[in-house]
Amino acid sequence: MSAVGEHGDGPPRHPFDVVVVGSANADLVVRVERHPAPGETVLGSELAVHPGGKGANQAVAAARLGARVALLGRVGADQHGRLLRESLEHDGVDHGHLHDTPAASGIAMIAVGPQGDNSIIVAPGANARVTEGDVLQAAPLLRSAPVVSLQLEIPLPAVLAAARLARRAVVNLSPAAPVPDELLALCDPLVVNEHEAALLLGVPGEADRQAKSLLALGPRSVVITLGADGAVVAEDGAVHAVPSPRVAAVDTTGAGDAFTGALAWRLAVGEPLTAAAAFAARVGAAAVRRPGAQDSYPTMAEVEDL
Ligand code: ADP
Repeated sequence: MSAVGEHGDGPPRHPFDVVVVGSANADLVVRVERHPAPGETVLGSELAVHPGGKGANQAVAAARLGARVALLGRVGADQHGRLLRESLEHDGVDHGHLHDTPAASGIAMIAVGPQGDNSIIVAPGANARVTEGDVLQAAPLLRSAPVVSLQLEIPLPAVLAAARLARRAVVNLSPAAPVPDELLALCDPLVVNEHEAALLLGVPGEADRQAKSLLALGPRSVVITLGADGAVVAEDGAVHAVPSPRVAAVDTTGAGDAFTGALAWRLAVGEPLTAAAAFAARVGAAAVRRPGAQDSYPTMAEVEDL
């Protein structure tokens, strides 16, 4: 693979705008009248199986907008693994670095109550087998991409190794967990929602202040997503509010992943952070208008129409 394309006047020669290193899960969704108490069995609706996982979601969100994307991770050599590959392929995401693994594919068992209230159990399966070695083996791929996009649904050593190799690491610290200072320092930006921000800082608070407090932990920049209220961006000591278009929200599942995938792509094509976040907020807003995660992600034409 040839090196990066920042030399000369031609189009960029890097094969991918964004390399996502992260999880792929099959979401097993059952609607229930009420959630079972411990020891109880309830009957639910027919099972629906959807491709999901934060890594795959981010990859599909970016690819559907037109980005060239690769996903590095692991799935099982099973029915769910095949479904996950098919969905990536459908959106043109390269899965040559998504390794078949002697473990079950990651799954999320999702019970959805009558008010849309979810209870979720994740069995990471193959995602838990992603290693630092997998990442180092793909070092040329990661080094070539303008942006590497990361989340915390795979083991931390793999995330850290990828951040070290990245020219720019967009890191969604989700699910929120304590991470080493070295990883924080490599985040550009660190992306969290308001709940994750409160967990990381140990206190809830107003978004502007939370963004500044997170910036003080060492990342180069910070984005906090705020649902219908859009996002705040903190960079170089300054905080900017980014609004989200008003939409009739139907299902917010995977909105944060749509936001982060879109953000990673816009940064990869050279957009400044605040403008990239404003675009990503439009993508997030478009995504909440339809049910599901990947199923709800918009094309570029749909974002432009918003
Ligand atoms: P997460 O899914 O991680 O909790 P958020 O709920 O903050 O993330 O959503 C991510 C982005 O999606 C927001 O920054 C916003 O742009 C968009 N979004 C989410 N919910 C809504 C909504 N109800 N109306 C408009 N935009 C929304």
